[in-house]
Amino acid sequence: MNPKAEIIAIGDELLIGHTLDSNSKWLAEMLAGIGVEVVRMSIIPDQIDAIIRALRESSKRASLITVTGGLGPTLDDLTKQAFKDYFKVELKTDETVLNDIKGFFTKRDLEMISSNERQADVPANCRVIRNSQGTAPGMWFDEDDIVYISMPGVPFEMKPMFEESVLQKIIERFDTRKIHHRKVQTAGIAESFLAESLSEFEDKLPDTIRLAYLPRLGQVTIRLTATENDGTDVISLLETQVEKLRNIIPEHIFGFGDDSLEKVIGDMLREKNLTLSTAESCTGGFISHLITSIPGSSDYYSGSIISYKDTVKINQLGVKSETLNAHGEVSEETVVEMAQGAMSSLHSDFSIAVSGIAGPGGEQPGKPVGTVWIAIGAKNKIHAELHHFNLNRTQNIELTAVTALNMLRAVLLHL
Ligand code: AMP
Ligand code: MG
Repeated sequence: MNPKAEIIAIGDELLIGHTLDSNSKWLAEMLAGIGVEVVRMSIIPDQIDAIIRALRESSKRASLITVTGGLGPTLDDLTKQAFKDYFKVELKTDETVLNDIKGFFTKRDLEMISSNERQADVPANCRVIRNSQGTAPGMWFDEDDIVYISMPGVPFEMKPMFEESVLQKIIERFDTRKIHHRKVQTAGIAESFLAESLSEFEDKLPDTIRLAYLPRLGQVTIRLTATENDGTDVISLLETQVEKLRNIIPEHIFGFGDDSLEKVIGDMLREKNLTLSTAESCTGGFISHLITSIPGSSDYYSGSIISYKDTVKINQLGVKSETLNAHGEVSEETVVEMAQGAMSSLHSDFSIAVSGIAGPGGEQPGKPVGTVWIAIGAKNKIHAELHHFNLNRTQNIELTAVTALNMLRAVLLHL
């Protein structure tokens, strides 16, 4: 039976706004993926009373309670103490954990102190969950038909712990029905237009499949979800629908699952044995950052000229000063010359060039904040487009980059 769950985040730092509670969001997504309904999330301070009260209240509503935080070696971390008091048990030393902790310090050639050793002491009624990334063990309690799981607050310790062992334990303990997702990544079409193109598709979707639009700047993820059901092959049901989407909006789909535009473009360039360079003005290297975040991008990416000032546009990219004087930095003529300059200076087959007004200041007559020219350079043709993004500075930069990458994708697709 799929259980109802509650998520508790413990930590004073969360309540004073120093740290965003990203653990709860992440856990909720993971739990949703295995069909567990999260009915409440709470954030509470590092106080024994508050923790005990939260556990007591959650146990009335849920049969699975996940807790993160408060497991550090320092005195301000009180979760273990709270569980001990909540269950009215003693602490015992767990030899496996003690060995793990000793190994952790030996491997790093560090001295172990008594507070670290005490991390191997856990409430007597728990099953420990080993921590592959740190010293604080996780704890699994199963009392009165309620499962309590306590994990470290540090996200890079908690996530592997959950994925490596807790997830499977929950599936087994509650015999949950798995939920399957298929994600289809689109770009260059707004959510409302996408929904309109897919209205007939939506009407004909089998009852077992749910559809969600998850928009980001310049991109929308279409998520199809189906819960495992006795006798139905939900996986092939989902694949059939993904295939249908491919036929309805082939131009807008750039990938599946967790594909990103920069990854997909990289694959296309590598496959076609082509190289790319960039000339960035208003994005200040952000496009380059996205491209180079993909491992192995040196196979196809030559580099970037960040031509923030006119002198750089002229000296490094060969933009003519007459062009800048006559049309301005943010113009079709300038961005086309930037694209040309990038290809010849950086010896690439293709280029991306952008010039725009990211804001908040800097608007010019007829060119409000958010005006951006983007050019995609190819040996025989340069294609330029004008966009008006009209967002804040960060968003204008991000949307410029996404739009430029998607323009390049369209060009590569039609080679
Ligand atoms: P802990 O020692 O287990 O309480 O966790 C230590 C650190 O993990 C904190 O200083 C935070 O930086 C981080 N942390 C704790 N709880 C969360 C949370 N819910 N979301 C994101 N980070 C967290
Ligand atoms: Mg803490």
